Amino acid sequence: MADQTTSTNAEQRRGLMFILSSPSGAGKTTISRMLLMADDEIKLSVSATTRPRRPGEVDGIDYYFVSDTEFERMVDNDDFYEWAIVFGHRYGTPKSHIHKGLKEGQDFLFDIDWQGTQQLKQQAREDVVSVFILPPSLAELRHRLESRAQDSAEVIDARMERARGEISHWAEYDYVVINDDVDQCFAKVREILHAERMKRSRQTGLVPFVRGLMG
Ligand code: 5GP
Repeated sequence: MADQTTSTNAEQRRGLMFILSSPSGAGKTTISRMLLMADDEIKLSVSATTRPRRPGEVDGIDYYFVSDTEFERMVDNDDFYEWAIVFGHRYGTPKSHIHKGLKEGQDFLFDIDWQGTQQLKQQAREDVVSVFILPPSLAELRHRLESRAQDSAEVIDARMERARGEISHWAEYDYVVINDDVDQCFAKVREILHAERMKRSRQTGLVPFVRGLMG
């Protein structure tokens, strides 16, 4: 039987960058929250944005809400993995903590769009696992956006238009899940995460373990 030290080493793994994308309203935020509640090994990568805060949003938890000047300073300092302009506001993924966390086996959840996904893949393909969440229909998507009651009719129209654009990128993702039923969708997303953690290339403890095993 393996001693304590051997089994601890064997379980060592590199963290992963878990991307959930979907058109606004398709359930990505709900699924993200469920995942963060259910799983201690993954934490949210909090983006910086220049968009104004919505009611109920908390600085440092939902986003880092920064001014245009502050955002520009961060771009100049190369503080972002990626950044993009969405609905006229800037959004970016700060690099800090992520490099170090991955080495220590920490997983990060990214709630970002297809542009951000492409850029993260270019920078860290081996660490990225990307999942696209589809709504069951466009009518259902509009219904969900309207029942959120956060945005005006013009903003909802703009989001519907943008949703079509987002959906056209579905084939660039590693996995695609249809959010017909939120619990089933969540269960599938968890299965993806669990399986990806087990990938041989992420199990950094395996080499010393097998070496020990073979004597
Ligand atoms: P919202 O304003 O509704 O929170 O987000 C608008 C869009 O910006 C969403 O599609 C969201 O995925 C995207 N977004 C949020 N943070 C980032 C980020 O750091 N980078 C990129 N590229 N997109 C982001």
